[in-house]
Amino acid sequence: MGKIELVGVEKTFGHVGVIKGVDLQVEDGEFVVFVGPSGCGKSTLLRLIAGLEDTTGGRILIDGVDVSDTPPAKRGLSMVFQSYALYPHMSVRSNIGFGLRMAGVPKEERNRKVEAAAAVLNLTAYLDRRPGQLSGGQRQRVAIGRAIVREPKAFLFDEPLSNLDAALRVNMRLEIARLQNSLGTTAIYVTHDQIEAMTLADKIVVLNAGKIEQVGSPLELYDHPANLFVAGFIGSPK
Ligand code: ADP
Ligand code: MG
Repeated sequence: MGKIELVGVEKTFGHVGVIKGVDLQVEDGEFVVFVGPSGCGKSTLLRLIAGLEDTTGGRILIDGVDVSDTPPAKRGLSMVFQSYALYPHMSVRSNIGFGLRMAGVPKEERNRKVEAAAAVLNLTAYLDRRPGQLSGGQRQRVAIGRAIVREPKAFLFDEPLSNLDAALRVNMRLEIARLQNSLGTTAIYVTHDQIEAMTLADKIVVLNAGKIEQVGSPLELYDHPANLFVAGFIGSPK
């Protein structure tokens, strides 16, 4: 299961409100995309869900359980960042299996899981290479592999493709869509790229200055934007 609920979530840094009362329901298996201009609070909201920041108001529930006091490692979520943060001195196999090793998963089981994830990501031939010997797209796949092996309740992606060139971005976008179809794991995906949002999302959440402007399917937002901000952002001439 991987149901995530936000109820009146708030976050202030010092006296500055960054997330201002967000209510949201993410169903199990749903692919939800957060879009909005730079600085609107997308990453902060994702970090609150991950537990990397504490909320200053409201509640976050995962599968019905309030996780306010649950540390990030115990929330059952896997985060994928735009910077791959791979260990350069370790093989692809060790990079993907690192979290499992830290969690004390025995070597044989670890290898089995790493190899299964590598197969899904077309990385089988690269397991003994180091990150420096891989292309940008392959490195990003390793980062995703690291998230997959932990069999999370949900993936949290923060602009995972923004460091890649345009052609590679299209490829990886298709790859992520394919992955979502085969795994069916809940995902929250942050991007400022409308095309990524429109093609990947079951549900798009449009954020502006720490608040939700509208939530809907790509088609709903395109056909019935709630206001000019959404219309401008989704690119529909209303
Ligand atoms: P986005 O990901 O949508 O570009 P962020 O969530 O990174 O936006 O940032 C939202 C706002 O919160 C920005 O104004 C940013 O400067 C501020 N902010 C983010 N993290 C911190 C922090 N740790 N301390 C103070 N301000 C922060
Ligand atoms: Mg961000």
